[in-house]
Amino acid sequence: MSAFDYDLFVIGGGSGGVRAARVAAGETGAKVALAEADRYGGTCVIRGCVPKKLMVFASEYAGIPAEAAGYGWDMGQGQFDWTAFRTRLNAELDRLENVYRNLLSGSKVETFDARAKITGAHEVTLSTGEVKTAKHILVATGGRPVRPDLPNAHLGIVSDDIFHLEKLPKSILIVGGGYIACEFACILNGLGVEVTQYYRGAQVLRGFDDEARGLVAEQMRENGISLHLGTNILEMAPADKRDASGETGAMGGSAQERVELSQMNEVEGAERGPVWVKSTAGSEGTFDMVFFATGRDPNSNDMGLEDVGVRLGRRGEIEVDEYSQTAVPSIYAIGDVTNRVNLTPVAIREGMAFVETVFKGNPTAVDHDLIPSAIFTQPEMGTVGLSEEEAREKEPVEIFCTSFRPMQTAFAGKPDRVLMKLIVSKATRTVLGCHIVAPNAGEMIQLAAIAIKMGATKEDFDRTVAVHPTMSEEIVTMRSPMRTA
Ligand code: NDP
Repeated sequence: MSAFDYDLFVIGGGSGGVRAARVAAGETGAKVALAEADRYGGTCVIRGCVPKKLMVFASEYAGIPAEAAGYGWDMGQGQFDWTAFRTRLNAELDRLENVYRNLLSGSKVETFDARAKITGAHEVTLSTGEVKTAKHILVATGGRPVRPDLPNAHLGIVSDDIFHLEKLPKSILIVGGGYIACEFACILNGLGVEVTQYYRGAQVLRGFDDEARGLVAEQMRENGISLHLGTNILEMAPADKRDASGETGAMGGSAQERVELSQMNEVEGAERGPVWVKSTAGSEGTFDMVFFATGRDPNSNDMGLEDVGVRLGRRGEIEVDEYSQTAVPSIYAIGDVTNRVNLTPVAIREGMAFVETVFKGNPTAVDHDLIPSAIFTQPEMGTVGLSEEEAREKEPVEIFCTSFRPMQTAFAGKPDRVLMKLIVSKATRTVLGCHIVAPNAGEMIQLAAIAIKMGATKEDFDRTVAVHPTMSEEIVTMRSPMRTA
């Protein structure tokens, strides 16, 4: 009999934790427990990818009547009903949470609806007071959105809040230029909200191919988003607490006034009325809502990790080796809490590799190379491998690129353009990167990524017959390089 209560105790019921728990229990017969302090399914299912994608779908219907008119339909514009959508969304999330719970119970994983703290190399203490021991502990607690360190930042919402709004604002200021900022700028714009976006850098979606992100930004503007680059919030305050002189109590009043205002703000934080904002570019404006999409931090605080010897990085990420093992041999960590590649399918891969290594006796390092991803902006961006800028730093490359107006929207008279781009090694002819900006680019890049992961050369792409007429046929018909570098 084992000296421990369990073979494995998983902390966190998101995509990574649930997968690891149920595969360990279901496929290896290990005795497994899992603790989740919030809702099962985690960020992806409850407050991330899934509700976000449903909001993307909701927002895309806005453009359909105008486009359909080009094809002879008279559909009328209609109205979006946020309350009706949110009710259906909540029902779907309840259904999915149940699926996750059932997956665990079906695999005989014992679950605890409680917060867990690590109190020893083999011990966790639950918020219920129970103490459990396990041969292995897996931390899969994910991440959380962070606000910038700015006075009155609590007046702004974060991505967790967006799905719970009682009503949609008329106007919103979105701060940030990453995945979440750009996706929600497009979603809310599609749902009829007046969207302003501030990004502090020179171009949104830093790190992605310059040409591809340039086209996304151009189309976002074309679609009506007021995108301000090189711009950030300098000051913000509740709009109704500013006096006639233009000063805010928070920044200009007496000490007593400042205390009163900050107390009011705490109350108002829940309701969050209109917010006055002064930008670093000098402009001032009032928005119904401010939304900080300024990054996410790992959920590693107050878990007792450092007390037992687990090492944390600068942002609180758990430091792990290629097998997801921490500095304490019995404790492993996967997913966003390790801040490697913060994507759901990667967390799932890391969970599977952990089970393979620890419970199947087959040491499996996680392969983080050539991970495809999609940004669900309008238009979407799908990407795998190196950007042109990254590739040029490494070796001589040929760039194959085409940008054109796709048949479907061009016929309806819309100015939309798409982009297909391949980065090819001059020496080996291997395709090093593929970047697509187009409707359903996420669907396309998944398939291109298989070939690229297999090491396909440009000539492999070329000898594949085009599927005609499609947008993606261009990916196999680009004959001459646009440039070499
Ligand atoms: P990102 O790290 O991608 O973007 C954060 C953005 O906020 C950057 O533009 C950053 O600017 C900016 N920023 C950071 N701090 C400040 C500040 N103090 N003031 C102003 N701007 C600031 O984070 P996200 O929250 O967008 O997404 C988190 C992660 O979630 C992503 O990395 C991704 O892995 C995952 N995700 C994936 C999705 C998908 O696959 N479709 C969708 C959503 C999220 P700068 O560039 O200058 O640093």
